[in-house]
Amino acid sequence: GAQPKILDVENLSARYGQVVALHGVSINIRAGELVAVLGPNGAGKSTLLRSVMGLTTSTGSVRFDDQSLPRRGTSRIARAGVVLVPEGRGIFAPMSVAENLQLGAYMIGGRGTEFERRRDRVLTLFPRLRERLNQTSGSLSGGEQQMLAVGRAMMAEPRLLLLDEPSLGLAPKVTAEILETLGQLNRSGLPILLVEQKAPLALKLANRAYVMSNGRISAEVDPREINSHADLAQFYFN
Ligand code: ATP
Repeated sequence: GAQPKILDVENLSARYGQVVALHGVSINIRAGELVAVLGPNGAGKSTLLRSVMGLTTSTGSVRFDDQSLPRRGTSRIARAGVVLVPEGRGIFAPMSVAENLQLGAYMIGGRGTEFERRRDRVLTLFPRLRERLNQTSGSLSGGEQQMLAVGRAMMAEPRLLLLDEPSLGLAPKVTAEILETLGQLNRSGLPILLVEQKAPLALKLANRAYVMSNGRISAEVDPREINSHADLAQFYFN
């Protein structure tokens, strides 16, 4: 039978001042799924993730693991186990890789056995970070910075990971490497909501995908049924 819904978003709307960026969006993620949100620039994909996180002025219902999440109060939402890797990565450039990882573990403090266990897990996931622990984060390559952003999120041991365009500005090879790691995390049981403009890549990983345009969900897609660019383009131009 179907897995229970880990995230259930109903009729979520959000505005920036007078500008309505989300119009009654409903999506869900079931336990163990990797769900992609596709769509052109300005469709509202980032706003959807930010709204789940309580970072916008929003209305509607967001349920996580059958608990209602507040529409404001990002720290409470994070403590419930929802963690966002924002577009642009949001790492602290002047700080070292090790310090950025410590920040991700702020809920348990940046030391101790549990901290070491989590850090070891992240460094096994991203061996390149282990070699660069004492390096200034701003001097990492774009791909390494994205690995650090995901690694820092994993330090919080999320129960749901939200990712905003992890491939942005990265070479295809590095993108593939990062997406492969995300697939690995998902197969180990972590539900993931992945916002991506590079639809073909996202569809390779995703169990399901939603297409957004103009602040609305315009289609829901079964990745196995997308066989060509033409199939996909149809959803973008509807
Ligand atoms: P992109 O991939 O380009 O980031 P997106 O699908 O993530 O696109 P959003 O960033 O969510 O889209 O933007 C949705 C709409 O909200 C756009 O019209 C955008 O201009 C507007 N918007 C986003 N952030 C703000 C803001 N801080 N203030 C005002 N308007 C905003």
